[in-house]
Amino acid sequence: MSELKYLFGPAPSRRLGRSLGINIVPAKICSLDCLYCEAGRTKTTTMQRKPYYKADDILKEFRENFDKFDGLCDIVTVTGAGEPTLNSELGKIITGIKEFTNKPCAILTNTTTIHIKEVYESLLKFDIVVPSLDAVTENIFKAVNLPEDSIYIADIIAGLEKFSKEYKGKFFIEILFCKDINDSREHINHLIKVLENIKCSKVQLGTVHRPPAHSTARPVSDEFLLDITKIFIKHNIPAEVTGGFSSVYKSSASLNLLDLIPALLKMRPCTLLDMSGVFGKSESEIKKSIDYLICENKIKAEYYNSDTYYTTA
Ligand code: SF4
Repeated sequence: MSELKYLFGPAPSRRLGRSLGINIVPAKICSLDCLYCEAGRTKTTTMQRKPYYKADDILKEFRENFDKFDGLCDIVTVTGAGEPTLNSELGKIITGIKEFTNKPCAILTNTTTIHIKEVYESLLKFDIVVPSLDAVTENIFKAVNLPEDSIYIADIIAGLEKFSKEYKGKFFIEILFCKDINDSREHINHLIKVLENIKCSKVQLGTVHRPPAHSTARPVSDEFLLDITKIFIKHNIPAEVTGGFSSVYKSSASLNLLDLIPALLKMRPCTLLDMSGVFGKSESEIKKSIDYLICENKIKAEYYNSDTYYTTA
């Protein structure tokens, strides 16, 4: 497989299973600088929308390589190590994907651009929209997500409320808790009030699982996540805790792991177990490729929370 610029996968997703990822913005083109970001710090937050990567180029690579991923992935996910809705050709990209495949198509977004008509209309075309909403008050939003100056959480909440009432697909809201930052009981009460007005399929609660961009991002406990899930459910908010990626999937397909592993790690750090799950290969098989790639200085190991994560070198 020749080196791919936009496609990666199959990618492990806590929420969506095995997905073919399409990266539509360059790394860290983002409107936020979340404490917990797995892709490192955002040097300059931006709200500028541009064809950072051109729709025609992305769709050409997608059409030419889709077959190689078809049997390995359940879903196509538009994402990136940045905010995908900052690509001003988002509408053309989703239309092109849907013309080519019937697989469900998801987008992961921080929804800072949801007030922009063209973004709003493009999001409506996806089968699954996964917005993140870690904070609902301005001061906590600034503390956990470090937004670009023109962004207000009140505008995002208004956009989510309106969108959720019109949208017909699956709408999974993800909340990531960082210890001592957005986990106070007062903030949980504010979250409940906001979520009661947003119609969603599920609220997914998680915490810092992988090496974060800022060392101030620390995980909350599993007990905390379970308690909050119960409280949300009591308020009729459908909620669940998301854990690590798990899969019993086993593949006999011959895969070029020496190409697939670096492409996957470009997007996010992964453990051996993550990669075994998504590629459907035993840990020992994956480890052989990892050892080779480490010797070639293509990837490296990092330790976080008593786990070994692999990232690009
Ligand atoms: S987690 Fe997502 S929204 Fe937050 S800084 Fe990273 S890429 Fe941007």
